Amino acid sequence: MYDVKSMKAEEFISDEEIQATLKYADENKDNMEVVDKIIAKAKLGKGLTHREASVLLACDNEAKLQEIYDLARQIKEDYYGNRIVLFAPLYLSNYCVNGCLYCPYHAKNKHISRKKLTQDEIRKEVIALQDMGHKRLAIELGEDPVNNPIEYVLESINTIYNIKHKNGAIRRVNVNIAATTVENYRKLHEAGIGTYILFQETYNKEGYEKLHPTGPKHDYAYHTEAMDRAQAGGIDDVGLGVLFGLQMYRYEFAGLLMHAEHLEAVHGVGPHTISVPRVKKADDIDPDAFDNGISDEMFEKIIALIRVAVPYTGMIISTREGKAVREKALEFGISQISGGSRTSVGGYVEEESEDDNSAQFDVSDRRTLDQVISWLIDLGYVPSFCTACYREGRTGDRFMSLCKSKQILNCCHPNALMTLKEYLEDYASEETKVKGMAMINEELQKIPNEKVRRIAAEHIADISGGKRDFRF
Ligand code: SAM
Repeated sequence: MYDVKSMKAEEFISDEEIQATLKYADENKDNMEVVDKIIAKAKLGKGLTHREASVLLACDNEAKLQEIYDLARQIKEDYYGNRIVLFAPLYLSNYCVNGCLYCPYHAKNKHISRKKLTQDEIRKEVIALQDMGHKRLAIELGEDPVNNPIEYVLESINTIYNIKHKNGAIRRVNVNIAATTVENYRKLHEAGIGTYILFQETYNKEGYEKLHPTGPKHDYAYHTEAMDRAQAGGIDDVGLGVLFGLQMYRYEFAGLLMHAEHLEAVHGVGPHTISVPRVKKADDIDPDAFDNGISDEMFEKIIALIRVAVPYTGMIISTREGKAVREKALEFGISQISGGSRTSVGGYVEEESEDDNSAQFDVSDRRTLDQVISWLIDLGYVPSFCTACYREGRTGDRFMSLCKSKQILNCCHPNALMTLKEYLEDYASEETKVKGMAMINEELQKIPNEKVRRIAAEHIADISGGKRDFRF
């Protein structure tokens, strides 16, 4: 039944295969010969299969766990270096016809205030985001064919890309909307989106159907096969994710890796990103109603193992998590974070008031973007606003080959430094500017190629002189 190349959800995410994987993991988790062999393979930096990674997830030997964490840190350093990409979510509409039990947008929630931004309101939100320093957005919408048709999404993307305000610019719009048709994916591709993101929520079909009792999202196969349709529509950067807490984490972990293997086997390129959201409190939603919540320790282990299993895939963590968890997550594999986020529709312009309940979930990290940038610098990470790859056409397998060839120090690193410099010039507080400049001077020396190093230094000087938007 299990067939990684099948185009049918129930065959590439075969329940039978996941059950067999969990059994295999339980049988081998204390077999140190097997565990060591898997760790040795992981050390080659070429990833692990869902079965191998599941054995490590089940293993609770302290010494082996330490080896896994060290390896996750190493792999992150090798492929992604010390750069962290920043983005912000932009909620356009919370109208929704689905019945997702964990989401406050669900259609039966009559007391949430429903909002949909007009193009003028979008302009104001985007200007507020540009004034914070953001260059990369993820737009978020509920599913509602009448209120949020694809035309509205396309018009909004066009509006966002065309706002020119001071030195601000949104250079990459990622899109997180419900599963749709090949034709609509093609339209999104033509509108110039970055990554198409769709969280699977859960890979367990039975659990999925119960958690999505009504609305188009109820259809497990249509949802699970969405990334294949996105690829058929020309989108080769797709982002996966599981909403941890809904179902058993071990099942989700195996399913997530099987989905990544499927994309790689069929389209020759795995997921561009993997997100790791956990269910949060929200209007009408009590996260304790789902009895599969995972501890912070298990969450960190999952992040480290995703890093080890799919070394070339970017990993995203949002402000659903607080500072302490985010700090650990950065260490073990996260390469992209949001900062200064508002999860309510219109939240960047209007201060979120007590009686506004339109937010999608409670934000745990409420720091401003400048505070997040300052914190990253203190931790030794280079905050990056880079959007170069996709603008240079380095998407899909072309991005992956850059990552695999470890050429990022000559490409992503200077791009990160140049975009950080723009941020420091245009938006940073004085304190952040001082330490950011010191970091740029130090990090420039790490660019191996002499010519690239010289050009990057020249561009950084030009940014002080008022020029913008350099990239390799
Ligand atoms: N409506 C789109 C869909 O169906 O995929 C995507 C947009 S939705 C705004 C983005 C994601 O938020 C969902 O995929 C879900 O994983 C997550 N989410 C929903 N309710 C949540 C909650 N209570 N806590 C944390 N995340 C939640």
